Amino acid sequence: MSAETHTFQAEVKQVLDIVIHSLYTDRDIFLRELISNASDALEKYNLKQATEKNLYQAEKGLEITLSFDEEAKTLTIADSGIGMTREELKTNLGTIAHSGTKAVLEALKEKGEVAGDMIGQFGVGFYSAFMVSNKVELFTHSWDADAESLKWESDGSGSYTITDAEDTQDRGTRIVLHLKEDYHEYANEMKLKSVVERYSNYVGHPIMLGEDRLNTVEAIWMKSKNDVTEEEYEKFYQFNAKAYDKPRYTMHFQADAPMALNALLFTPQENPERMGFGQVDPGVALHCRKVLIDAKPEGLLPEWLRFLKGVIDCADLPLNISRESLQDSSVVQKLGKVVTKRFVKFLAKQAKDEETYLEFYAQFSRYLKEGACHDFENKESLTDLLRFESTMTEDGKLTSLQDYLDRAKDEQDSIYYLIAPTMEAAKGSLYLEPFKARGLEVILMTDAVDEYVMGSLMDFKEKKFVSIDKADIELDDHALEGEALPEAELNSLLDWLNTSKGEQVDSVKSGSRLVESPIVALAPDDQMGFQARAMMEAMGQKIEEPKAVIEINPRHDLIKSLAECQKTDAEKAQRIFAQLSQNALLAAGLVSNPADVANSMNKLMEDFLK
Ligand code: ADP
Ligand code: MG
Repeated sequence: MSAETHTFQAEVKQVLDIVIHSLYTDRDIFLRELISNASDALEKYNLKQATEKNLYQAEKGLEITLSFDEEAKTLTIADSGIGMTREELKTNLGTIAHSGTKAVLEALKEKGEVAGDMIGQFGVGFYSAFMVSNKVELFTHSWDADAESLKWESDGSGSYTITDAEDTQDRGTRIVLHLKEDYHEYANEMKLKSVVERYSNYVGHPIMLGEDRLNTVEAIWMKSKNDVTEEEYEKFYQFNAKAYDKPRYTMHFQADAPMALNALLFTPQENPERMGFGQVDPGVALHCRKVLIDAKPEGLLPEWLRFLKGVIDCADLPLNISRESLQDSSVVQKLGKVVTKRFVKFLAKQAKDEETYLEFYAQFSRYLKEGACHDFENKESLTDLLRFESTMTEDGKLTSLQDYLDRAKDEQDSIYYLIAPTMEAAKGSLYLEPFKARGLEVILMTDAVDEYVMGSLMDFKEKKFVSIDKADIELDDHALEGEALPEAELNSLLDWLNTSKGEQVDSVKSGSRLVESPIVALAPDDQMGFQARAMMEAMGQKIEEPKAVIEINPRHDLIKSLAECQKTDAEKAQRIFAQLSQNALLAAGLVSNPADVANSMNKLMEDFLK
């Protein structure tokens, strides 16, 4: 038997040094690394199998086998994969091919310590075996029937030996770890089960411990859509999301460009944050070639997608990228963007099936609104996914903003909306009158977040969102009938009204908005809408006392009579206008004690009937 001893490449020694002498918070990672290598080896064998003839046979199928010896304190990880030749042992386990190794070493040295998670990131995962072992024995036979059976062995202190092994072994690689005292716990069934369940449950090949298969769930996201049944999706979703319902939407796709990725995403039936349940954690796990990187990666998908469940698997990721570096990784950011775009597109497609979409929307509209406000890249497509009641929808039906624009006349440059506490209040609102009279559609909103949403969206397809209680809306007057007060008379009336306006009134003006009403209170241009204000107050925010712009209708008989009255009995006119203003403010929700308005009205009538 020939035995060759080799020294490790200088960089390997350095890596080993850091690996062995570091303290790890995450002790389990060595097993994930070795299982992931075994899984890679099985994949590679799979590819060889398709092209080569002279294959070395294995007793077992394509699987990974764990075993342990409680007495000897050894743990063995075996695979029936591609195996290694003598040359490969030297290059793969004795040198570091990774081009960035030097830079990595510098960085590690500077820190003085390495986070366990970082080991696999730089293609040095195998050496984590030395974290837990005094000695590592590795038996291997490459896929080629004519290859040698070899044994590689090292204590990780600077050199390794390669000897011929007995020729009875199977194809693939068997790694025997002689566990350090601190790590004896890994020679134990319960321990192995729990570690595999946690980190390697989705490895595509069976991981066996005795008769038991430890990884129960297949990596179905790596399969093609046509090869997965509805029931498999359902089972996987339930496992992945720890859920009992069926997924509402299932989105499964593969992409090669701009990066190699597989994604399987689910939306649950119900909003997980409904009724006082707090904000949920991200639910889409990040995998790299079936190996779990992070079950709840922060910063992969935008926050508004936190209701999603499932898996994203990206082959281009550095395996074992650490949690901390996840958010800073440009690959991860790009990955998140690609998947988000695809999901938004997917929803747009689903929205065509209106009935199903509206059921989804009823549960998840808050997230879409949040996204429309915060996810700058997808703002317009997300706004397009919102649905609202309007003055033109039938009861219980909703419209999209695009449909609104399609119905609007070309010259309309705004999207009009009204926010009210209830749909009943919205539909009965005084502010609708001028818009209805002109055939202008108004979006009706009752969700407490809508004011915030409208305020931050600003516009859609270059049409501005405008709250209909704002004073600066210009409406044409072609719909109006009847003679208006002559201009001179109107101006003198306005001058007079502006000198005797009440405290809450910013100014009095004449306008062409009103059709049947004599007067309306509007929000000044620099102030938020009245309904919005009321809602924010209801949510506990203190807001400055609002002022109102009073607009009068110069065509209305009451206003014409007021002008007459002002000439003959200024005091009477004064009282009447004060009452009219109060009524308008009351309708606008700006009067804190409505009974005062009723009382002054009663008093007014009493005096005038005398
Ligand atoms: P990486 O997996 O990122 O390449 P590792 O340090 O984990 O880095 O492994 C180094 C190399 O050793 C692998 O690329 C592979 O060629 C070889 N190797 C490790 N484990 C096995 C195995 N079980 N079977 C075959 N080759 C292996
Ligand atoms: Mg590896």
